[in-house]
Amino acid sequence: MTTEKSENLVVFYASQTGNAEWIAKNIHQEALKRGFSSEYLVFDEHDKVELSKEKILIFVTSSTGDGDPPDNATKFFRYLRKVKSKTFLSHAKFTILGLADDALGLETVVDPWIENLWATLANVCVQKQGHNIDAEEIIDSVKTLSVNSITKTVQESPDIQTTNGKSNGQLSGNLSGVKVVLDFSEFDDTSQLTALPRIPVSCCKIVKSRKENFVSGSSLPSFIVTPTPIINSRLSFVRCLTHPGSVKKTLHMELDVKEYGKKIQFSPGDAFGILAPNDDILVRDVLTALGIDENEAKQEISVEPVEGTELPTHLKQAKSTSIIELLRYAVDLTSLPRKALLRMMAEYASNSLERKKLLFLCSKQGIQQFNRLREQIPTILDLLVTFPSCKPPIERLLDALPPHKPRYYSIVNSPLLNSDALHFAFNVVDYHTPDPYNVHRLGVCTSWLNKLSGNITEEGRSLAPLMIDIPIFMEINTRSFTIPPDISKPLIMIGPGTGVAPFVGFLNHRELQMKNLSEYSEQFGEMWLFYGCRKKEKDFLYRQELEGFLKQGILKELLVVESRAPGAGLNGKPKYVQDLLRNRGSEIFKLMSQNEAMIFVCGDAKGMAKDVNESLADILVEHGKIERSDALKLLIRWMEERRYLRDLVVGLNDPNKDGNYAGYQLTRITFKKWKNNQVQDDHNRPLPSFRMHSSRHLLKRRT
Ligand code: NAP
Repeated sequence: MTTEKSENLVVFYASQTGNAEWIAKNIHQEALKRGFSSEYLVFDEHDKVELSKEKILIFVTSSTGDGDPPDNATKFFRYLRKVKSKTFLSHAKFTILGLADDALGLETVVDPWIENLWATLANVCVQKQGHNIDAEEIIDSVKTLSVNSITKTVQESPDIQTTNGKSNGQLSGNLSGVKVVLDFSEFDDTSQLTALPRIPVSCCKIVKSRKENFVSGSSLPSFIVTPTPIINSRLSFVRCLTHPGSVKKTLHMELDVKEYGKKIQFSPGDAFGILAPNDDILVRDVLTALGIDENEAKQEISVEPVEGTELPTHLKQAKSTSIIELLRYAVDLTSLPRKALLRMMAEYASNSLERKKLLFLCSKQGIQQFNRLREQIPTILDLLVTFPSCKPPIERLLDALPPHKPRYYSIVNSPLLNSDALHFAFNVVDYHTPDPYNVHRLGVCTSWLNKLSGNITEEGRSLAPLMIDIPIFMEINTRSFTIPPDISKPLIMIGPGTGVAPFVGFLNHRELQMKNLSEYSEQFGEMWLFYGCRKKEKDFLYRQELEGFLKQGILKELLVVESRAPGAGLNGKPKYVQDLLRNRGSEIFKLMSQNEAMIFVCGDAKGMAKDVNESLADILVEHGKIERSDALKLLIRWMEERRYLRDLVVGLNDPNKDGNYAGYQLTRITFKKWKNNQVQDDHNRPLPSFRMHSSRHLLKRRT
């Protein structure tokens, strides 16, 4: 093995929601600062470098869907699959940072990983003269602070008041933000703060146009980049699927796309993205909190990269736009704050106590209060009103906030029935944070759609054509989550709540297939639907349609369970879809084993999909007389063979939050976990094709 150091390194990223991109960009920029010669590329641009020659490769990637590559890695993934050489990359030293879900705060895991990276890189990669600083020295200066050394900054404002544990739900002055409830009784001025996150790299610069132009904001900003062309659909019909008094309100909507004719092609199970703006009042109040007046906010500007840096993808096209448009469409104002955001805010807090508290919150010592802050799901406005002396320049916010993402919805109708419209269903995200906070929160897209359609409440009520424009785009479906072309395959469909949406599309499609191919009626495979709601009379979504499918024989079995029926879950009474599956175990086993049924699961990733997987394994063990480990292996094989397909969404803590966490927009997630330095599947087994290395050990030669 040669000990010669490499001249340069390449950081690759693949990112669905912007997190992996943000982390990779920060690694790249810090590498430059440390004197390494670094390149930074998205996976799909892998042909811009010669992989067969590059010696140091750093891959930062998330996954999406049910373990699928992010959209900007699909080409690379195809390329990798074709590589037959057993010595591929054997010339290189590489490391992979695989991101799992964001529940704990990414910094907790990612920052130590990056720390180890610098020490390791210094041994294998050349650092320019003058930059050859001891890595530990840099880490210490960034990561440890003594609280009493934090001096007063620019201008003192009155010290903030934070309550000690009681909910205040307090609105701040004229602004709609709510002060975050925090308890700083354990914080004292003599504390040594450690494990502080890095301040995000400054890469955005706002450049004003020469002429004083104002941007009207009447059309969608041109900086929005979508994987397929933007379609201006018309909202034509709305129906409330739930009854008053149900736990959640579910709307069915129809979008008219006939203007686009054959350009729009879809199959049942496909999804499309909606480009909803951030809430107008939230945007207005963020501007006020930052001290930006209306004129300035509307003035034509461009976002340029700070010299020697690159803009993140979502800001690359931000030319001839305005600050207000950037806040409406470019950055996420409502997702859980990262520690790095708080760290950046601390730099701009003119009140020293606020500054100390912000630093405390993002340090190791402040972890409890940081978690408390996240429980309240504060928007950026809430943070600004909690720390009112903090007025970061808009550029620094652009650096630190994640990209604003489209929200995805499954299509409920079949193109065989109507290809001029896209029908979809969703829960209106509207909830209160848990006690003692009790703050009212709304989703971004679902609340926007709800407001646009007049906030209808009555079940069954529909509106006359609304003629409201909704910008959308079709998702590229790489998931095969669609009704199979082979009509003879039996289908077992499992979708509680709005997870039923794509199956209504499957059934619509089958209805038409059965009409058009009546001579083959004997050959159609059975369709079984397992559906769960809380109470049939309140939230049995698409009841009429589903019962109609059963009556017509399109559905062989419609199995519905009520989770809040008296006695549900007690004395063997089913509560959830997985209980119904077990009850019908022998028939399900027969369909799976003898008839090669396909299994489709749609809905919540965290609870439901895991439990359904367990019940399928139980069925295989009981009726197939196999070991549990073999049953689990078989299910994984079926997933790989695309016989067992899942369209899953993470809903953390409160399943009603599709907009704040990942929700549908963020993560059609994978179950693969990052544990013990490995990416693991649902059952804590390492995935051999995606093994993660700690950077301490990494950069070993691959043999
Ligand atoms: P939901 O209303 O929260 O729940 C539906 C039913 O599932 C309730 O009866 C609930 O019971 C039950 N449930 C709770 N925990 C469960 C578990 N561990 N196993 C089985 N059932 C369980 O459902 P939802 O919010 O509509 O959730 C559906 C998910 O599908 C969402 O995350 C949504 O984003 C996603 N999705 C939506 C679309 C779409 O096009 N709109 C498409 C794909 C996926 P209790 O509450 O009584 O416990």
